[in-house]
Amino acid sequence: MTTPSILILAGDGIGPEVMAEVRKVIDWFGTQGHAFEVEEGLVGGAAYDAHGTPLTDETMERAQSVDAVLLGAVGGPKYDALDFSVKPERGLLRLRKEMDLFSNLRPAQCFDALADFSSLKREVVAGLDIVIVRELTSGVYFGEPRGIFKEGNERVGINTQRYTESEIARVARSAFELARRRRNKVCSMEKANVMESGILWREVVTEVHAAEYSDVELSHMYADAGAMQLCRWPKQFDVIVTDNLFGDLLSDAAAMLTGSLGMLPSASLGAPMENGRPKALYEPVHGSAPDIAGQGKANPIACILSFAMALRYSFDLGEGAARLEAAVETVLADGARTADLLGPEGGTAISTAEMGDRIVAALSA
Ligand code: NAD
Repeated sequence: MTTPSILILAGDGIGPEVMAEVRKVIDWFGTQGHAFEVEEGLVGGAAYDAHGTPLTDETMERAQSVDAVLLGAVGGPKYDALDFSVKPERGLLRLRKEMDLFSNLRPAQCFDALADFSSLKREVVAGLDIVIVRELTSGVYFGEPRGIFKEGNERVGINTQRYTESEIARVARSAFELARRRRNKVCSMEKANVMESGILWREVVTEVHAAEYSDVELSHMYADAGAMQLCRWPKQFDVIVTDNLFGDLLSDAAAMLTGSLGMLPSASLGAPMENGRPKALYEPVHGSAPDIAGQGKANPIACILSFAMALRYSFDLGEGAARLEAAVETVLADGARTADLLGPEGGTAISTAEMGDRIVAALSA
């Protein structure tokens, strides 16, 4: 078997700091018989500084050919005045677009030790482990016609919600596949009560389920009711699949159930490659945090948990992923906190590197 390959694009701000801790975790897996071929490249402002573009064609090509891309974060005030076409975010958008990453996975996982961080009651969120699958490349953010037009004496703003059957079917498959590796439950959310695109969404998800995934438990919910249920009793869900717009809102709401931005991983998946693995980009949800960059204050857990997702969804190493998540849980239960995880009562923060070291130590224990 060939060694699985990873392209690391650490990016800007705290990106390289948190990615250094992921490297320690990757090296640890190497000592356990799971070696990875790792190469590094530039993205965002770092790529602009070196090459005058936020993503070179060579790096794009590498991203297309490796088994998984791990990205840190891009952007920062230094690049705010750049032309739109070379802004750091364009590098990330190019990766997502050219790799055709249509399925965005945002887990909301609440570690017991951090349950008091949530705005909801401890018993509602402790032990929470759900994933929102958001369709990422179509829907109302892309549909035509769009624009601001003149209509008589006033202007009218138009966006179009548009989904083809195949776009719905492929993200539905992605959600069902994911559920099979988890607790085998999918809840599909749309607004079939008021939107034709929602009616089609529900029909196609139901058809794909009946034809290919009848072993998975499927339910449907209107997205507004889903939002209420996410706040009332989120543990009822396993995998939620929804469109681009509702997914944008629901995944942010679900993420906040769990507390800090420094804890949130994500994955964006595309179609399977020749080797059966999906095209994949893993990245923390947070940005480059220029306010704390270079100070050793960043929480590396979001990036480390993004690598755990890579282990599970790109490399079929579910046990390794669970072990890594358990190591994070242990370290948090022992009271280790980066500055962002200190509650109002304060305490002593450990550095980015120390958090990484402790997680690696917990993996070995
Ligand atoms: P941000 O996520 O970078 O930071 C928001 C706040 O959360 C800051 O106070 C920051 O210190 C804190 N924070 C974020 N990650 C943290 C971590 N791992 N540990 C501890 N604290 C953490 O969002 P922002 O300030 O709105 O944006 C900063 C820059 O990042 C901008 O240039 C923005 O465009 C870019 N950005 C990039 C991405 C990405 O690369 N995917 C996402 C969002 C923002």
